Amino acid sequence: MPVNKAWTLASRPAGGVSEDNFKLAESEAPRPKEGEVLVRNLWLSLDPYMRGRMNDVKSYVPPVGIGEVMVGQTAGEVLESRHPGFKQGDKVLAAGWQLYSCMKGEELDKVDAGRAPLSYYLGALGMPGLTAYFGMKDIGAPKAGETVVVSAASGAVGSVVGQLAKIAGCRAVGIAGGKQKCDYVVKELGFDACVDYKAGNVYRDLKEACPKGVDVYFDNVAGEVLETMLRIMNLFSRIVVCGRIAEHNELFCHKNLGSVLVNRIKMQGMIVFDWKSRYPEGIRALAGYMAEGRLKCRESVAEGIENAPKAFIGMLKGQNFGKQLVKLA
Ligand code: NDP
Repeated sequence: MPVNKAWTLASRPAGGVSEDNFKLAESEAPRPKEGEVLVRNLWLSLDPYMRGRMNDVKSYVPPVGIGEVMVGQTAGEVLESRHPGFKQGDKVLAAGWQLYSCMKGEELDKVDAGRAPLSYYLGALGMPGLTAYFGMKDIGAPKAGETVVVSAASGAVGSVVGQLAKIAGCRAVGIAGGKQKCDYVVKELGFDACVDYKAGNVYRDLKEACPKGVDVYFDNVAGEVLETMLRIMNLFSRIVVCGRIAEHNELFCHKNLGSVLVNRIKMQGMIVFDWKSRYPEGIRALAGYMAEGRLKCRESVAEGIENAPKAFIGMLKGQNFGKQLVKLA
């Protein structure tokens, strides 16, 4: 059997994540038992939620245990199957920061690699794209002519949110770190404006970019950006509470929450897997927009399993540009 390399959690971060928090373990890849499938992973997805899973706190899913393989989605191909639903060569989504995953057939999702590159099923056609799709459709629910703002706008979720806002006939405004990302969001993705939260005065720049106020804020970061957004939300506006990457390393107490009451804002948290039964609908819609040239995506690719922790830490600091992936083979 081939040798598996897997990143495990060595220790919990105290504040920021460091490479010492991970340990690379090597072992022979297991033979699949009855009902199981052995997958050779080709791509690993690195996502901000993994930072939360490194802490030992109560959340919507349990944390990763010390010594356990780091949680994460992979895209790969079936090497050996002992499950009737899968055959060698099938392209699937599997799990773990590792080269080989041996899983029950029921835990795997087959993907149509003829429709789009395999890696897209970890990005715009995968969990981040579906987060954008259902968050916008069922919570943000923008109407033509409204203004939609999204933070982490050049990233995997944010880039799709803004493009969906344009498709819905809205004014799309991004918030991103740095001129290069803001330029990309406007010039390549077609947003109407993008505010660099690391430069100048975010409140003033957002007011200027949103002359009619904001009807939908898709919040990927929380923290000070959310506090500022609360000051410019319209009456009966909606906030999609999707991520809190700015708060992972510190406790935050929000100012300006009074705006939710005064402006009758609907503010709703979302976890994408609540929509699991509707993923096929989301993938179909997103793939359709992509085929029509109305949905673009960009990937940041780190090479080799050895570089996963470094790429993960970089992504948490904004060094990624689009969907952060690790190419495993
Ligand atoms: P991204 O590709 O957007 O990468 C993360 C980005 O966050 C960085 O590139 C950086 O962009 C930005 N960022 C980092 N630190 C800060 C900070 N302190 N303040 C503001 N921005 C910061 O990641 P994803 O698109 O995969 O995820 C975006 C968010 O959506 C995350 O919070 C994630 O947890 C959440 N999410 C939630 C899901 C759900 O079901 N609720 C599902 C999927 C994702 P920049 O350089 O522009 O600052």
